[in-house]
Amino acid sequence: MDTTVSSQVESVAWDLGDLYAGPDDPRLAADLADALEAAQQFDRQYRGKVAIAGGPSPELVASALAAMEGILERTGKASAYADLLHASDVTPAAHGALVAMTHEKGSAVRQALIFFELEWLALDDDAAQRVIDAPACQHYRHFLRSLRRYRPHVLTEPEEKILEDKANTGGRAFARLFDELVSSLVFEVESDGGVQRLNESEALALLYDHRRDVRRAAAAAITRTLQDNQLAIGFIFNTLTQDHAVDDRLRSFAGPMAARHLANEIDAPTVDALMRACESRHDLVHRYYRLKRRLLDLDTLVDFDRYAPLGPETTITSWDRCQEIVLTAYGAFAPRMREIAALFFERRWIDATIRPGKRGGAFSHSTVPSVHPYVLANYTGKLHDVMTIAHELGHGVHQYLSRPRGYLQADTPLTMAETASVFGEMLVFEQLLREVADAPTRLRLLCGKIEDTIATVFRQIALTRFEQRLHDARRNEGELSRERICTLWQGINAALYGDAVTLTDDYRWWWSYIPHFVHTPFYCYAYGFGELLVLALYETYRREGAVFVPKYLELLAAGGSETPSTLLRPLGVDITDPGFWHLGLEPLDNMVRQAEALAG
Ligand SMILES: [Zn+2]
Repeated sequence: MDTTVSSQVESVAWDLGDLYAGPDDPRLAADLADALEAAQQFDRQYRGKVAIAGGPSPELVASALAAMEGILERTGKASAYADLLHASDVTPAAHGALVAMTHEKGSAVRQALIFFELEWLALDDDAAQRVIDAPACQHYRHFLRSLRRYRPHVLTEPEEKILEDKANTGGRAFARLFDELVSSLVFEVESDGGVQRLNESEALALLYDHRRDVRRAAAAAITRTLQDNQLAIGFIFNTLTQDHAVDDRLRSFAGPMAARHLANEIDAPTVDALMRACESRHDLVHRYYRLKRRLLDLDTLVDFDRYAPLGPETTITSWDRCQEIVLTAYGAFAPRMREIAALFFERRWIDATIRPGKRGGAFSHSTVPSVHPYVLANYTGKLHDVMTIAHELGHGVHQYLSRPRGYLQADTPLTMAETASVFGEMLVFEQLLREVADAPTRLRLLCGKIEDTIATVFRQIALTRFEQRLHDARRNEGELSRERICTLWQGINAALYGDAVTLTDDYRWWWSYIPHFVHTPFYCYAYGFGELLVLALYETYRREGAVFVPKYLELLAAGGSETPSTLLRPLGVDITDPGFWHLGLEPLDNMVRQAEALAG
């Protein structure tokens, strides 16, 4: 570890030449033009050939899908290049214009192809099954089958059209009102005798401040502003939960969560097993926050203390050292993982330098199967940044390995999307724990990982449970008072935090700013699913050792070519078994125990 991180990371910029030579590369315009022409050709060749009596020949379906992938590759490559160029510098207007242009052309092409999927859906079950089972369609089996899962929930074309038209002034309008309202809110935080006028993310960021009075003032300001806007927010929540109920009734979904489960390719008993397993181990959350209260030297840990830092960070890790740590950790697991991760550094598939105009945060973009993923990060040398690089390279390795599955089946459903990233983080986390000798840094590392896990697993499951109660209450009790929503929220959180965290009366209102509830009902459990799945896989690896490795690499290479439960079966995993999810809580139990021991 050294302190010259900025000079060492200056030159870490990616080379997008594997996509195009530049925004003016004639191959980019040619790909878009070719794709549109090929889409028109596709229309002439396949329209009216799928939804026919007796069904289409499997060979025709297979060659149509191969053609479709070829077309989508070309538009996907152009828009991936535009996205990455724009992310590396958002300032030039030409970069934004290229994004808009490639996305518009891409969506025109996708619209021209959509008839094929609609015809496939219109086909009766027996005819479709014959195609799915045919050897010619072996490669596309999952794609074909998973498209069909929406068939029982699709309405007639005129009905769909009306719903789509009215959604812009219905549900979508209320969601937009929520966004515009929340982003216009001003939070007046009193500090040092003055008043700071902040936006939502600035106010929330103060909850991470080391000064308790700053955290308390920020929490009070957040509560005040949320309360002041309850007329609109409460109305939006009531309207959108009822809108969801209407959708479920029209589309014959069995309950509030059924549509999300279908999209996630997960069944209700699996999610139920996951949620119950988490809720039976709230003692881990309680133990951790009792420890944190002790480390912060507080009499009581209040809700606004949950994110308080445990002291200033002193170590800086150079970029070269970060690379070495990640590659060593990946290599100790599997030489193949190290080889692939090393490509990102050697071939400049990674952009790590902080520059003016560059997008914040970090991501791994899969681009298209015929090229390779690219990683963006903003590296400052903190331990958290090393974990971020481990995380994004996990995505990168996953995306790299699943390329042979092709454009339509390389990507996993949401629930599996974070598998390799979180697994990669665990490998690097363990590596760092082995390397770091001094107790305070080890304790900070452990606490950071535990807090991340609590936020991704327990909090997300609690959010889901609240949402479930909210939708059930709206369906059973009619329009809900704001006070009723607050009571549901506070009850769920009281169970989560027990007597380890004191929830103020103010905290009752803190459901009101969470965007997932408004935009994508029941999205949150996927975070918990992904994280706990990985912890369970990691525990399996710890127990099985080397025999686990090839099975894990095969799982990554399978991409999204099967449902999660089928993909996981070769690893001896049954996700409907609550015992499996308890296995995932073991590593967390270990970490809490280690942190307790280090704290003495
Ligand atoms: Zn991720």
